Amino acid sequence: MSSIAENFSDIQRRIRKAEKLSGREEGSARLVAVSKMQSPSAIEEALACGHRLFGENKVQEAQEHWAHHKSNYPDLHLHLIGPLQTNKVKDAVALFDCIETVDREKLVDALAEEMKKQGRDLPCLIQVNTGEEDQKSGVLPAHLPKLYAYAIEKGLNVTGLMCIPPVEEPSALHFALLLKLAKSLNVKDLSMGMSNDYLRAVPLGATYVRVGTALFGSRS
Ligand SMILES: *Cc1c(COP(=O)(O)O)cnc(C)c1O
Repeated sequence: MSSIAENFSDIQRRIRKAEKLSGREEGSARLVAVSKMQSPSAIEEALACGHRLFGENKVQEAQEHWAHHKSNYPDLHLHLIGPLQTNKVKDAVALFDCIETVDREKLVDALAEEMKKQGRDLPCLIQVNTGEEDQKSGVLPAHLPKLYAYAIEKGLNVTGLMCIPPVEEPSALHFALLLKLAKSLNVKDLSMGMSNDYLRAVPLGATYVRVGTALFGSRS
């Protein structure tokens, strides 16, 4: 087995174990393999393992990585996990299957309009800036109910929330906050946990963990 194949089976096994230990249904925490800045051969290896759910944080790079694979892998699922500018919305709606980083009304407007145009109804997550960091994207927790209501009113299919905790703080606190916010809105999806903390996110309800380096090794 290649090391990437070993990493995939190892991490899937750990996630299954964490689900079991926390009384969650098997398969309820799904692995989003973050392929940003990885080589075409690494991506091929992941596909050869049978993995089909991937995350990318830039629209153009995602097109380079994935556009040519889409026809060969009809069950491929791509999540946008990076900030989205409104001038990239058209390409993002055409390529991705889920937008995890909705964080402002202007983006809601652009996504709703473009999805209508393309006849696509993508599930979306609202990114929450749980650490209230100035430099980080995401809506502040206090502004979340208003943005959620706005997105629903515009017809966006918001299925949950996403966060990236501050690096210097215990991520479990942020995962717990995101869980609480999701419960208050009655949405089901929680995208949280990366290479260093995905096993802490599973007991707190993650339905998506976004793992890059622990699967593929360090980025070029
Ligand atoms: C890069 C990235 C990840 C993956 O990070 P790793 O530490 O490599 O697992 C997860 N989420 C987002 C939003 C990212 O940009």
